[in-house]
Parts: sequence; C-alpha cells; structure tokens
Amino acid sequence: MRYEVDFLVVGSGIAGLSFALKVAEHGRVCILTKGDAAEGSTRYAQGGIAAVMYDSDSFDKHIQDTLVAGDGICDREVVEMTIREAPDRIRELVQYGVEFDRVPNGKSPAGAPAKFDLHREGGHSEFRILHHKDNTGEEIERGLLEAARRHPNIEIKERQFAIDIITQHHLGQRVTKHTPDIECYGVYALDCDTNRIDTYLAKVTLLATGGMGNVYSTTTTPVISTGDGVAMVHRARGVLSDLEFMQFHPTSLYNPAEKPAFLITEAMRGAGAVLKDRDGKEFMQKYDKRLSLAPRDIVARAIDNEMKLSGKDYLYLDARGIGKKHLIEGFPTIYAKCLSIGIDITRDMIPVRPAAHYQCGGIKVDRNGESSIHHLYAAGECSCTGLHGGNRLASNSLLEAVVYAHNAAMSAIAKVESGNWKVKNEVPDWNAEGMVLNEEMVLITQTKKELQEIMWNYVGIVRSDLRLQRAFDRLNLIFRETEDLYNRSVLTEPLSELRNLIACAYLIIKMARARRQNVGLHYSLDLV
Ligand SMILES: Cc1cc2nc3c(=O)[nH]c(=O)nc-3n(C[C@H](O)[C@H](O)[C@H](O)COP(=O)(O)OP(=O)(O)OC[C@H]3O[C@@H](n4cnc5c(N)ncnc54)[C@H](O)[C@@H]3O)c2cc1C
Repeated sequence: MRYEVDFLVVGSGIAGLSFALKVAEHGRVCILTKGDAAEGSTRYAQGGIAAVMYDSDSFDKHIQDTLVAGDGICDREVVEMTIREAPDRIRELVQYGVEFDRVPNGKSPAGAPAKFDLHREGGHSEFRILHHKDNTGEEIERGLLEAARRHPNIEIKERQFAIDIITQHHLGQRVTKHTPDIECYGVYALDCDTNRIDTYLAKVTLLATGGMGNVYSTTTTPVISTGDGVAMVHRARGVLSDLEFMQFHPTSLYNPAEKPAFLITEAMRGAGAVLKDRDGKEFMQKYDKRLSLAPRDIVARAIDNEMKLSGKDYLYLDARGIGKKHLIEGFPTIYAKCLSIGIDITRDMIPVRPAAHYQCGGIKVDRNGESSIHHLYAAGECSCTGLHGGNRLASNSLLEAVVYAHNAAMSAIAKVESGNWKVKNEVPDWNAEGMVLNEEMVLITQTKKELQEIMWNYVGIVRSDLRLQRAFDRLNLIFRETEDLYNRSVLTEPLSELRNLIACAYLIIKMARARRQNVGLHYSLDLV
C-alpha cells in the first residue's frame, strides 16, 4: 500500500506526540509506532522534567548545572536556548492536559492554581523537577496521547515498524556520506499484522524513535528501544554523533529475571536515600564529596567499582531514613513494586545495580531539529542536539524532547507551507522478491543475547582499548552472519531490530575508540 501525508512522524513518545500536536494545525499527520502507542521510554520516566519555574531558582543556575554534568563539551548556545524555553513548553504540556503535582495548600494569587511541587535530583543545585508522583512519564504520555487521539488531523497507526527512510538511493542513485544533498521522501514500514511492507511518502518526516538501551543486557529501557532511528540514518548515510556517551543509571532494582530493569529514581536519593555496600556501610565518601547525590556517571562508576571489588552482583540503596509516610505517599510506584517482590522499603534496604539507561548521542540535528538529510527531522532520545555534551543531567531529556519537538515543528511547518517541496511519487515500492520466511527464530534471539553480553562486558561503564577491540572483533562475526540472514529472508520485526542493534553497537564502539580522552560518560582505563 502507498500512503501520502504532509507530516510523517515515527514514534509516539513525548517527542513524536508533541511534534504531531503542533504540526497538525497545518496539515495531515500520520504517526507510525511499532507497538502500542503508549509503549516507549516516556511512560517509564519516574523522576520528572526539569525547568526553572520560580524566582527562587534561575536560568543561570540550571544552565550551569547542565554544563557541569556535560563535562565541558555541551553546546552552550543550545543549553541556554533549551533552558530558557523550558517554562513555555511546560505550560503547553499543562494546556494539553498533563498534570504535575502542586504544593498542598500552596499559596498563590486568588483564583490561580497552587504552585508546582518541585523535586531536586542529583547534579541539580535547586529544586526544579516538575513531577507527577513518581510516574511522571506515564502522566505525560497519557495527556499527550489523549490530545493526539482527539485531533482530527492526526492518525496514529500502531504496529507499523519503520524499516528504512527513503532517499535518492531508492531512486537508483548512488548515495555516500559525501553526497551533499541527501533528501528524505518518507519511510518504508512493515505492517506487523500482515507482514506487508508499505510506502509512506511525506513532505517532512520526523524520527522520534527513542533510545537504544537494548544494545546492553541490563537496561531500564523498554524492549522497543532498539536504536531504529539511529540505524536508519546510518544506513541512509546521515550524520550521527556522540554515541560513546551511554548513560548507565546507577540504581536499577536488582531482580535479574525482569526486563526491562525497574528503575529506582534519583529523586529517592534527592529525598535522602543513601548508597551502602553489602555490609550496610556507606561508601560514596571514597569517590565524591557530593556523596550519593553526585552525578550519575560518578555514582555508576563507584557502584561498578564496589561490585568488582566485592565480587557481588548488587549493592544497597537505603531509603529507610526518608520515613514511612513520605516513602509510601511520595514513591508509591517504587513502594508497590518492591513490595511485590518481598522488599518493604520502609524497613528493608533496596538491592540495586547499574543499568544502561539513556543514550546522549544520536542523529545530529541543528537548533531546528533538522538532520543532515533534507526534510528529515529528529527529536527526543534518538537525536543529538548538543544539550547533554558528555553526560545528561537528570530530567533534562524530557525537557529536550519537548523543546526540540517545538523547534522542529516550527521549522517543518514553514517548510511545508513554502509549497516548494512535492511528495516524490516516483519512489518504488519495497521489493521482497526471492525472499523466504526464516523459521529459525533461535538464530535471531541467540545473536541478540550474544550482542548484549558483548556490549555489557566490553563496552560498558568502564572500557579499555583491548575491551573495545575484542568487542569489535566479535561484533564483526555477528554482523556478517546477520547480514547473510537478512539478504535471504523475508523481513520481520525481530530481524530488523537485530540489524539495528548491531549497527548501533558498531557505532558506539567506533565512537568510543575515536574518543581519546576520558570525558563525561566515556571512561577508559587506558586514558586515565
Ligand atoms: C525507566 C526510565 C526512567 C526515566 N526517567 C526520566 C526522567 O525522570 N526524566 C527525564 O527527563 N527522562 C527520563 N528518562 C528518559 C526519557 O524517558 C526518554 O529519554 C524519553 O522519554 C524519550 O522520549 P522519546 O519520545 O524520544 O522516545 P520514546 O518515549 O522511547 O518513544 C519512542 C517511540 O518510537 C517508536 N518506535 C521506535 N522505533 C520504531 C520503528 N522502527 N518504527 C515505528 N516506531 C518506532 C516506539 O514504538 C515509541 O512509540 C527515563 C527513561 C527510562 C527508561
């Protein structure tokens, strides 16, 4: 089947939905999403979204905190723009119907709603995290999805897996990374219910495909986070950046059978929980004077080191000092989750270990969210804006997603309304002739596990030249086997995801090897 729209959006998390709601006032929008529309990292975000809302805080302080976390390699102009735009974007989320917690009995001018209740998280010098209890992302996803579903110009198509963006390459032209004017005409997408591959043509395409946490064996990200957008742009010869900066969250709940790993939000350390070793002794004083509230990379490396020294699989987060009432009312999701596996966090310490959590790098975009490929935008976790530099400050990613969805929408609207870009009707349909259905799923599932173990063991929190070389050699074999399978098989979602994960792993290793300095999240024993 062939479809034509003004704006094509791949992904229905905070970035895709925010963009769609804005451009829908100016044309027809189609959102493709590979699972259920609500599934994605957005709905798992617990802590909240950072913004300077009141005079007790200042833009300068938030800018400074972001620059410090980014370890000197953020794009300062991007940081300033994003943080100054934040309050406007928060007000829009509220207008779309998203609810953030407010101060109980808070004083505000007559008739106005009470002030927002703000949390503080690691690396933030002020209380500036807007939240909805400890399930902020679920509330944001609910609010945006309901607004998108109400909009007459937006069609949301679930279980549609975008395979590749369409460029001149599909018109038979040779495209290399040196081709100056690569253009995007839309995407090919697999209908996961019929196994048919459809052609979606659009004047503008936005990739909002989220992260790539599943490159690693332990991750807090949902199973859909397989780096599809990044891999698609890589295949289309677009520019990618900063993929060596994978953020490992220091505290995921240790429950080995569970995927994704359940996150214990940083807000809990902000509220007073402290990290302890297996003997119940605090250890962060050995690593940083900010103790358990040090930035994520420092805490993750400290835990990794303590685990290696002790040979144990997990350490503890002790939240008992926060008090029973605050724990149950302020962290109801974590309280219920831990209780479901026999841990009463008001009485017991929580077993935790680090997990791959957030990809700071991605599809390189300018301040309008436009990639190096014309008419292709990217926003949210799949993009690289320069905001995070070497390391993301907690709760800045939801913020980045809404700010860049807005900027991309403004630029895309102008482009479509200028009228000098037509949908490319000569694009051919996907050719699947001569392919056979591969029935050996084990080839795919086993290879995925191998890949995730290689990445966890050799390209994790602490790296070295030898580990990266070893990962690269093993990945090469996996790459060749998988390409062979791809070239003779009917395309399926698992096979496509595996190819994408391999491409992302390759890019992480390549960029990690090229980074000859320990900065931000990239830490190599050979560069100390
Ligand atoms: C457990 C957890 C807690 C977090 N807590 C916070 C927090 O407190 N504050 C904060 O700022 N950030 C937090 N983050 C990070 C933040 O949630 C994400 O970075 C953000 O939600 C990403 O939004 P997104 O719209 O880019 O992608 P997602 O919400 O991940 O959405 C991606 C979308 O793309 C679709 N998709 C992907 N590939 C394809 C394809 N090939 N074809 C079609 N559709 C596709 C998916 O189906 C999905 O709809 C957290 C992340 C996790 C995992």
